[in-house]
Amino acid sequence: MEVNRVMAGILGYDSAEQLKASVADMLQVYADPEERRHLVERALRDGSFSHYETRVRTRDGELKWVSASALLIRDEAGQPAHFTGSVLDIDQRHRMQVALQHSESRYRTLVEHSQVGVFIMRGDVYTYANHAFANLLGYTEAELLGRNYREIMAPEVVPQSEERDRLRQAGEHVPPDFGTCLLHRDGRRVFVRVSIGPVQLDGVEHLTGTVLDITRQREAEERLRFHATHDPLTGLPNRMLFNQRLAESMLLSSQAADRRRRRYAVLFLDLDGFKWVNDSLGHGAGDRLLVEIARRLEDSLLSDVLIARYGGDEFTLLPDGDCDRDRAVEIARRVLKLFEQPFDIGGQQVFSAASLGIVIGQRNYESPDQVLRDADTAMYRAKAAGKSGYVIFDEAMHQEALSRLQLETDFRLAFERAEFRLHYQPIIELASGRLVGAEALVRWRHPLRGLLPPGDFLAVAEETGLIVDMDAWGLREACRQLAAWRKAYPEFTGLSMNVNVDERQMVSAEIVEEVFTLLQTHQLPPASLRLEVTETAFRAGRGQAEQRLLSLKALGVGLVVDDFGTGYSSLESFAASPFDALKMDQLFIRDIETNPRHRAIVRTITGFADELGLALTAEGIETEGQRDLLKSVGCQYGQGYLFSRALPPEDFEQMLLAGSRIVG
Ligand code: C2E
Ligand code: MG
Ligand code: MG
Repeated sequence: MEVNRVMAGILGYDSAEQLKASVADMLQVYADPEERRHLVERALRDGSFSHYETRVRTRDGELKWVSASALLIRDEAGQPAHFTGSVLDIDQRHRMQVALQHSESRYRTLVEHSQVGVFIMRGDVYTYANHAFANLLGYTEAELLGRNYREIMAPEVVPQSEERDRLRQAGEHVPPDFGTCLLHRDGRRVFVRVSIGPVQLDGVEHLTGTVLDITRQREAEERLRFHATHDPLTGLPNRMLFNQRLAESMLLSSQAADRRRRRYAVLFLDLDGFKWVNDSLGHGAGDRLLVEIARRLEDSLLSDVLIARYGGDEFTLLPDGDCDRDRAVEIARRVLKLFEQPFDIGGQQVFSAASLGIVIGQRNYESPDQVLRDADTAMYRAKAAGKSGYVIFDEAMHQEALSRLQLETDFRLAFERAEFRLHYQPIIELASGRLVGAEALVRWRHPLRGLLPPGDFLAVAEETGLIVDMDAWGLREACRQLAAWRKAYPEFTGLSMNVNVDERQMVSAEIVEEVFTLLQTHQLPPASLRLEVTETAFRAGRGQAEQRLLSLKALGVGLVVDDFGTGYSSLESFAASPFDALKMDQLFIRDIETNPRHRAIVRTITGFADELGLALTAEGIETEGQRDLLKSVGCQYGQGYLFSRALPPEDFEQMLLAGSRIVG
């Protein structure tokens, strides 16, 4: 046996001699003796073998892949003499191949079992689809092979896809990610997000891609969108959607040329007395009523009107297409008719009514808010005009709304400009004609309109919420004035001051603190201050106001029910409340001489006050006859033009100067 050095090296020997010394026959080094026999047989039979890959055992016993070739050499007689051969070390290569096979099958498994759809396309045709992709569309992998992508794509998105192909072929940039819609085998649409990229496979351009099912996500998004634009109770579009549609209508009407202009109108519906339903039947019933009304509106109008629940008990309507005044009125009539039949609320028949405000679209509206503001104004007109009707917003209302706005602006400024004044109307003890006190009544010195009585601005004060600040100012000013007069005219020992307090102020926690501080600052006997509150302030359920009243009572301040007899409170609630005085409303005094009913009421109130130990004042006394009658039934105090109007402080002071004698 002859071997060379390279051969020895492969097998781990330092030299050929060393190898020869330890291995008798080259064939001994084969790892598998069986294999060796087989190779020898093969060489003897065929005369040779080549590039046979097998494993050999190296000097230190390790196995190694080699590629072996051998040639049989025969002697002159033709008998096998010996072998000559070569061995190539392919161990490294072999290891790599195995590793490659491993990793390839790993990737294959990964792709085949992936939850994400994977495909390969050549041209328009699928050449590979994994299980997830095929399954997504209800096919087997094999069924997708060879299919044109158009066959499984929703027809409406095919043009987009073709456009992408065109761009790609033209070498332009195409976004690799896009959403599209595929068709399931059963016809259902499957929304997917696709990610694609080109690859070269066997020298041919292919597209590979992944597909993610986003149908559920889209459904969730759609649900979310629905909830954001619809009222959960009635399922009707909500304010947001309505405003959107209205904005579209406004745009359409402003764009078209005058002759072909599409007109629009908005109907604003507000239920009459819905609060009553809630209060008396409960909120559950109120909700059911709203749902019933929504259904009825939909049943009769939905085909050509957008109906929205705008808020609480408000619905807004936007007729589709062109809508002129006549059509809007016709719709309003239809809506009002819907309320002629009772609604079934859990077996109970409930009648409901609605008032409607209508706005006919105009060029100068800039936003839906402006349209709805005017519709709301018109709706209030309808309510004021006796409810269950409709009113169309017109120019006069517009002007009024404008001046109202102006008034509001002015009112806000009035604080800065210190334009409020208190006037004082004397309160007289009827039996003696003595001046015992005054009622502070607010006036506004408007820079352009002159001295305004509260009737002209109380509504604005209430709406802006500034009434609280105004009254707080009034309270301070009245206390200051009272203290000054009590000091300057000590002969009027019991001089008291009545101050009107809005019910809102009664709810705020500061009032008690405020009153306490004022009494301290001006060193006023608590009983000299009397707060006038209307009945609504202590109706059932106004727990907070009730609390305030009790705290004020504890301070020793007088509490007066103003305009007594005009509210709807039960006598019981008075008996239980901390009030110590009543003020009979002018309504009963005005015609007391001619109206026996009112006379009877006055007599009853007098008796009631007497029994409960409440002081009683009659307001609005204008004639001696009225005064005498009140005196005769036992009413203690009076107030009215007969004695004096509300006076500016200087004039009131003149009365004090003149002494206690009040002519009347
Ligand atoms: P009120 O508290 O019932 O005040 C009595 C109203 O009757 C006053 O009108 C007074 O000027 C008027 N009056 C007095 N005597 C007669 C009379 O003989 N005949 C007629 N026809 N009227 C008479 P005014 O000052 O316009 O106040 C109206 C209402 O405004 C008040 O009714 C009160 O509810 C409210 N008010 C007045 N000042 C304030 C205030 O500072 N704060 C709050 N929150 N409300 C106020
Ligand atoms: Mg009053
Ligand atoms: Mg009054």
